[in-house]
Amino acid sequence: MSIRWGLIGASTIARQFMISAIRAHGDGEIAAVMSSSPERAMAYAGENDIPLAVSTLDALLGADIDAVYISTTNELHLDQALAAAKAGKHVLCEKPLALTSADARKMVTAARAAGIVLGTNHHLRNAGAHRSMREAIAAGRIGKPIAARVFHSVYLPENLQGWRITKPEAGGGVVLDITVHDVDTLRFVLDDDPVEVSCFTQSVGMAGSGLEDGAMCIWRFKSGIIAQSHEGFTTKFAGTGFEVHGSEGSLIASNVMTQKPDGSVLLRTAEGEEQLSFDRDDLYTRSVHQFHAAIGGEGHPAATGEDGVWSLASAEAALQSGSSGKAVKIDPRLGSMN
Ligand code: NDP
Repeated sequence: MSIRWGLIGASTIARQFMISAIRAHGDGEIAAVMSSSPERAMAYAGENDIPLAVSTLDALLGADIDAVYISTTNELHLDQALAAAKAGKHVLCEKPLALTSADARKMVTAARAAGIVLGTNHHLRNAGAHRSMREAIAAGRIGKPIAARVFHSVYLPENLQGWRITKPEAGGGVVLDITVHDVDTLRFVLDDDPVEVSCFTQSVGMAGSGLEDGAMCIWRFKSGIIAQSHEGFTTKFAGTGFEVHGSEGSLIASNVMTQKPDGSVLLRTAEGEEQLSFDRDDLYTRSVHQFHAAIGGEGHPAATGEDGVWSLASAEAALQSGSSGKAVKIDPRLGSMN
């Protein structure tokens, strides 16, 4: 059975990664694209060989599709996801799921009520590097995990220097853009949940309208692990990385906070150093693979709707901490959803 997708949003991420990720599966088909502009919808459909171009959500949801991929700007995700769930379509939504964790919880509740699959497109969980780190930790290879460090300050490419740095109302700013990914990857690799965050944000000249273009967070996890994460839009020459330090060893990954299956993971213990080997599968293709399997009743999306609530609740707490100057408790209130 083929899964027919409708794209909600004529976006860069769909063009660069998700269209090919869907088409990489024999059972994945892109049936339609929706843009708020009929001209952009037509042009995008033409450039990407998509048979149907529409400019309203009703037209998209009325088309012969099974699932939607939402990659519009962040303030639009909520209403689009709720409408898609109501129409019985499975929803793979970009991060952050919404502008607030309360709205993200509404999406999870609606998906459960409609019996559809809801996934959050946190691509980094699909990286072989992060999966190998999670497995090494679970196998006890670094002993008891004590602390983690995430280096994810990049330079925002010029073609993306739009709403992310000018529009608070669209969910701009580096925390909703990158911190959500970092805290999700920490949750995944450590297999633990953050309970508290302290965050400093900065605006060094790229972002306007009161938005932050840099952030440093310190996270406390349930088990007692502490972690730091650094996110930025303005550092042209910083590399990325992810480290976890334990009582018996350290995992030191370089160049792994990316959209490509790149990078390396070094395990250092009393026995010496070992480069971990891991698969180099495309991150987005694996995300679609898991999502298709979940639609077929096998397992769940790589990052679920609940995971999206967690990452957004955590980012929300980081923003609150950044503005109040105080540590903030993280409360996804998953228990209150039914
Ligand atoms: P884009 O800015 O490329 O697209 C977002 C929206 O902008 C589109 O839906 C489109 O509206 C509008 N738009 C695009 N081009 C134009 C134009 N020329 N003129 C006017 N409007 C235009 O966003 P991204 O692809 O960078 O991000 C989209 C979503 O995906 C966000 O939620 C983001 O957080 C997420 N994302 C996730 C990544 C991941 O790895 N998981 C990576 C990058 C982004 P319309 O559809 O109405 O035409």
